Amino acid sequence: MMNRLTIDGSLGEGGGQILRSALSLSLITGRPFKIDNIRKGRERPGLLRQHLASVQAAAQIGNAQVTGDELGSLSLSFTPEQIKAGDYSFSIGTAGSCTLLLQTILPALASVSEISTLTLKGGTHNPFAPPFDFVAKTFLPMLARLGTRVDASLIRPGFYPAGGGEIKVRIEPNAIGTGLEVLERGDFVSAKGRILFANLAFHIVERERKIMAKAMGWSEDEIQLEQRTDSTGPGNAVLIEIESANVTEVFVAFGERGRAAEKVAADACKQARNYLASTAVAGEYLADQLLLPIALKGTGRFTATRLSRHSTTNMEIIRLFLERSFRSEQKDRNLWQIEIG
Ligand code: ATP
Repeated sequence: MMNRLTIDGSLGEGGGQILRSALSLSLITGRPFKIDNIRKGRERPGLLRQHLASVQAAAQIGNAQVTGDELGSLSLSFTPEQIKAGDYSFSIGTAGSCTLLLQTILPALASVSEISTLTLKGGTHNPFAPPFDFVAKTFLPMLARLGTRVDASLIRPGFYPAGGGEIKVRIEPNAIGTGLEVLERGDFVSAKGRILFANLAFHIVERERKIMAKAMGWSEDEIQLEQRTDSTGPGNAVLIEIESANVTEVFVAFGERGRAAEKVAADACKQARNYLASTAVAGEYLADQLLLPIALKGTGRFTATRLSRHSTTNMEIIRLFLERSFRSEQKDRNLWQIEIG
């Protein structure tokens, strides 16, 4: 058996991504690990339900032996065996993010030779996690370029804090693809606004639409309103999708109790405008999420608006498992080039 890696969960950003990336990489490489100081950089350190769900899902698909898999745990050991494709169903409980769980196990399931299907229940539109729309339009198309074909559909949205959402996913075995090389966004195709809402007074949505139209230079009827009647709790996501020839970026801001609708809409618009002010392919979130798939593929180059602490932390975990380093270089104020291989 390969010798076990010891990881300090407080390194860099000290967040949940260290654990999730370690799970993904351990499954793929077969290398066991022990992690201490889990999420030591966060206000409530240790495993929360959401992280525990990722551990359990990873353990199930990799037939792993695990110790320390309890709520609040600061240490965990994980020893995987063979990855099994299959039809899996994981329920995260409350509004734990389905998309973060998906990203944890996706590389492993795509690395074996049979198709897998997943039913994931929990949050689909959570603050601090990729919203479903981002996964479907931004992240998965990039994976497809790397030879990993994944279809995801939203059955029902789950907003924080009530959750109750569901997504279905089909993961095909990796095709032989090349590394990713996207340094330019390519021609501008479109910019669109959409407001997703459930169990919410309509005037909130109207106020958001007004601000969005003004900030983005759109007419109000160009902005799509999507009311969901199948959501367990109230919810509101303001989404802006910017499509270019080589990439579609999705920016989001979430409505929450006590936060003015105007602020929510302005936040989404600010993110979109910052992106439009740069020539980079990836916004900061896509950038940190591309690192692992690219490193697994062996080579890749892309540009990003920013090199976040989240990204540099993720690079560090990847280096521990794969013994390969990324190079990153700032080219301009909002332009970084990141590469491996
Ligand atoms: P914690 O650090 O508290 O454990 P966590 O487990 O939710 O939190 P983080 O380590 O903060 O995880 O990682 C969050 C992930 O979600 C990152 O990969 C980030 O790119 C992604 N993400 C956050 N917000 C967005 C967004 N608006 N759009 C797309 N992706 C996002």
